[in-house]
Formats: sequence, C-alpha cells, structure tokens
Amino acid sequence: QLRLRSALSLVTGAGSGIGRAVCARLAGEGATVAACDLDGAAARETVQLLGGPGSEEGAPRGNHAAFQADVSEARAARSLLQQVQACFSRPPSVVVSCAGITRDEFLLQMSEDDWDRVIAVNLKGIFLVTQAAAQALVSSGSHGSIINISSIVGKVGNMGQANYAASKAGVIGLTQTAARELGRHGIRCNSVLPGFIATPMTQKMPQKVKDKVTGMIPMGHMGNPEDVADVVAFLASEDSGYITGASVEVTGGLFM
Ligand code: NAD
Repeated sequence: QLRLRSALSLVTGAGSGIGRAVCARLAGEGATVAACDLDGAAARETVQLLGGPGSEEGAPRGNHAAFQADVSEARAARSLLQQVQACFSRPPSVVVSCAGITRDEFLLQMSEDDWDRVIAVNLKGIFLVTQAAAQALVSSGSHGSIINISSIVGKVGNMGQANYAASKAGVIGLTQTAARELGRHGIRCNSVLPGFIATPMTQKMPQKVKDKVTGMIPMGHMGNPEDVADVVAFLASEDSGYITGASVEVTGGLFM
C-alpha cells in the first residue's frame, strides 16, 4: 500500500545524500516531489532519477519538479514556497529540510564567518522553510507533516563542530516549539537525528576518523541515506499520525 499517494512533498538539500534518498523514498510511496537545492543542476538530476509507483527503474514518473534556492535567504525561502504552490496549485503537506553544511574547526580557532554560515544554513534555513510552509498550510486549512533533519551531534556535541552542534541542537528546540504551536492546526513537526551516514558530507572525512567512529557503532557499520529516508517516510505518513515533537535517532546505536 502506498502511504503517501497524492501527497505533495517539498525536500530541501535534495541534490545529494540524504535529501536525494528522501526524494526517492517519498516518490516510491506515491508522493509528488518538489526537489530543492542550492545547486539547481543537482536538484534537476534528482528529479531525473526519481521513479514512482510502477515505474521502470530510473524512469522519471509523475509530476516531480526541481527548484533552486538558498534556504538561508529569507526572500529565497519564501519565494520557494510560493513557486511550489504556484507549480502544483497547493502547498506541500510534507516538508523535509535536509539542506545542511559543515565548516569544521576547533573552538579556539573557529572564525565568526564559519559560525555564522553554518547557523544561517542549518538553523535559520530550517526556521525560514518551516515558517513559510506552516503559514501556507495554516492559511489553506491543510494538515501536514514537517520533518527537520538535525543530527546526533546536536545532542552530544562533537570535536571541531561547535557551530554544527549548536545549529543541530537549535533545530531540535525549534521543531519541538513548532510542534507545540502547530498541533492544533493538524501540523506535526518532528526532527530526525542521523548518526554517521555514508554521503558526500562524510566522504571527505579522513579514513582514520571514519574507522574510529565506525568502531563505536554497536551495529558495526555506517548508515546509508536510505536508512534515514525510511524513517522520514514513516514520519511523513499517517503511520506516525500521533507522533509530534519527537527527535528520532537513526544511529545504529551510536550514543544512547
Ligand atoms: P550532503 O552534503 O550530501 O547534501 C547536502 C545538500 O544540501 C547538498 O546538495 C547541498 O547543495 C545542499 N545545500 C547546502 N546549502 C544549502 C542552502 N543554503 N540551500 C539549499 N540547499 C543547500 O549532506 P548529507 O550528508 O546528505 O546531509 C543532509 C542533512 O543530514 C544535513 O542537514 C546534515 O547536517 C544532516 N546529517 C548528515 C549526517 C551524515 O552523517 N551524513 C549525519 C547527521 C546529520
């Protein structure tokens, strides 16, 4: 049974890693996907890769569309929601914010610019998209599910990631507050905390560090983007209809 038949979903950071896997999973559940990325060409490539229910592998199916936007810019984030609504004649009922960056440096050396950029994309970007999406849903009287990608690092911190950890902890608080405020409008808000997932973001880490972290994972291996996408699909669907304000860890047991 397709759990998201006829749902319109907006995914940011859709051009790579977890965002791309989320797009594929939601499309596989019958959703129409609006794939947004800072890198417009990467978002278009994701749409090319999307299948749908019953489609040949790799064949685009359904009404999916790509959008380019920098979610850290208020004007761009608002315009994104307007463009998606204009394109599909309704607001997205599933909104997944995957756009995120790292700019690692130890606290003693971290520049103001590295701090500001990570907070701008990872935290302000999610605020802007969540707010614009919620405004569109409330004003049209529609229910929805908003899913924000945080990180286990937002809960436990990580060496060299003061900016990233702060942004991801912020996402948890923002999402819990949104859940409190929007529940009465039929809008659920949850965050997902991935652990160590094999994507371009983690590919650039030195092998020695990868081996060390992998050694700490009870399940003994890194996660795949699809492991995160499976949980996002659950949170997007009515199978999680009474779950809001949750922070779901997808870590293979890394940190309990
Ligand atoms: P990734 O680098 O593969 O993909 C991130 C995507 O976000 C890229 O396509 C990039 O172009 C896009 N993006 C960056 N800045 C943007 C902006 N300002 N506006 C719009 N799009 C922008 O990374 P990933 O590993 O797939 O990570 C996806 C999310 O999951 C991020 O929020 C990341 O922090 C989080 N996460 C990843 C891991 C992991 O181990 N990979 C762990 C925990 C959390």
